[in-house]
Amino acid sequence: MASFKDFNLSRKVQDAINDMGFEEPSPIQASCIPLVLEGKEVIGQAQTGTGKTAAFGVPIVERAGTDRRVQALVLTPTRELAIQVAGEFRKIAKHKRVRSLPIYGGQSIVHQIRALQQGVQIVIGTPGRVLDHIRRGTLKLNSVQMVVLDEADEMLDMGFIEDIESILKETPDDRQTLLFSATFPSEVRRLSARYMKKPEHVTVNRGEMTVPLTDQVYYKVLERSKLESLCRIVDSEEVSLGIIFCRTKRGVDELVEALLARGYLVDGLHGDLSQAQRDRVMKRFRTSDIELLVATDVAARGIDVDNVTHVINYDLPQDPESYVHRIGRTGRAGKKGLAISLATPREFKLLKQIERETGAKMEAREVPSLADVAERQAEVWRNRIIEAIQGGSLGHFRAILGNVIDEYDPVDVACAALKIASAGELEKREEEDYNFGDTGAKPGMVRFFINVGRNANISPSDLVRTISEEAGVPGQTIGKIDIFDRFTFVEVEQESAPFVYEALRKSRINGSRVNLEPAKPRARR
Ligand code: ADP
Ligand code: MG
Repeated sequence: MASFKDFNLSRKVQDAINDMGFEEPSPIQASCIPLVLEGKEVIGQAQTGTGKTAAFGVPIVERAGTDRRVQALVLTPTRELAIQVAGEFRKIAKHKRVRSLPIYGGQSIVHQIRALQQGVQIVIGTPGRVLDHIRRGTLKLNSVQMVVLDEADEMLDMGFIEDIESILKETPDDRQTLLFSATFPSEVRRLSARYMKKPEHVTVNRGEMTVPLTDQVYYKVLERSKLESLCRIVDSEEVSLGIIFCRTKRGVDELVEALLARGYLVDGLHGDLSQAQRDRVMKRFRTSDIELLVATDVAARGIDVDNVTHVINYDLPQDPESYVHRIGRTGRAGKKGLAISLATPREFKLLKQIERETGAKMEAREVPSLADVAERQAEVWRNRIIEAIQGGSLGHFRAILGNVIDEYDPVDVACAALKIASAGELEKREEEDYNFGDTGAKPGMVRFFINVGRNANISPSDLVRTISEEAGVPGQTIGKIDIFDRFTFVEVEQESAPFVYEALRKSRINGSRVNLEPAKPRARR
């Protein structure tokens, strides 16, 4: 297994990675980082969510010097990505005096000019705005040593080829060029052939995998209610010994806190714990003192426990191999186990990729509704009451009740006692779902507005395909579609609407960037 220590990174960058909670490089990082550090040009091809940003961010920050001129330029297709990548750079450079700046359209250019004048070493920008600054003379690229084309396929889809070429011409010929892309269509191939020097092509290798015979299910969950969904799933599963996987150390700590606050018997395991702490946690797990262990991949690798009933992927793993490793923690010693994966709309494609590449069969399940959970809990409490009655020896408690029984209805008394004993567990709760309000749709449906129409060559079948693929909802949940010249309305069944919203509010249809939002109700005619 690769470790960040293998790269001989400076203490400052190593510490920053540690602060970010990364325990080990993802496969694309393990292959790219050493090559980039050596000065090689790299084409990195891997799905979204596989950690491509740090694959170039770590070596760029590592190699950046104190010279206040622009040393590295990262081009991204959208302003959201520019901001996101800049945020990641800021974290990697936390202990190092390397300044990075996102520049993108939509933000005041004056502000950006002022920031550029103060001197930055790393610029992350969208092609249009970068070119704008070059033409104004407010961005000089003659000292650039490294250029990254991030999400190259998307940039080309969006028609940025000429801008990219103009920008590259402003950079020194002996620069090191890196290109990252989820796919590798011919336009990307041509771009790399023209502007890169003997690049190493890195794809995340897909070795043969033996998937353990564990039953596998997945739940589609919403980003905003992921924790609540996890709790409901755990409550409905009778987990006696479960491991919950998170991607980062920080993720582990936060989830442990949140689950403890909700009364679960849980503890966490990750690489920052001392051996003594680790041993203590493992002992609690082995002796069933805790029912749930929250862990990172690295920490879980050392676990040798046979009777794990459930493996839960709270965060999806970054690659199919890790998935196989994770689920191999259950169903051992001939016992049957269950592997549960949670996938938010943004992770849905990664889930499908894992399913495809491991050849796993994952059954889709619905997150239990509040009503389901409430009914199960009610059942448990009714049984407890019956057991207590049948167990007898209640005389002492009858004495405590005294004459309350004479003054109040006995049913009221029983309800009050139940309310006190259940300590909030049986309180009535409301679903905290998206409320799209009145969108002008027919009852049971939500109408969405999309900011492109015939101008982007969108057809109803494209729309149905994109929505069902991206949000993972069946095509028949999609209703009326109205495509106009410059915008589109589409109706979706209420239950699918939150998934469609989270998956598509900022996305692409037929290569065009789109925004999707709840429609306003139609004006009365
Ligand atoms: P991509 O660009 O391939 O879509 P990102 O670079 O945006 O992927 O990374 C996806 C997520 O994974 C981010 O939240 C990032 O912080 C996290 N991540 C990246 N590398 C690691 C790692 N080595 N360990 C844990 N989490 C990581
Ligand atoms: Mg990325």
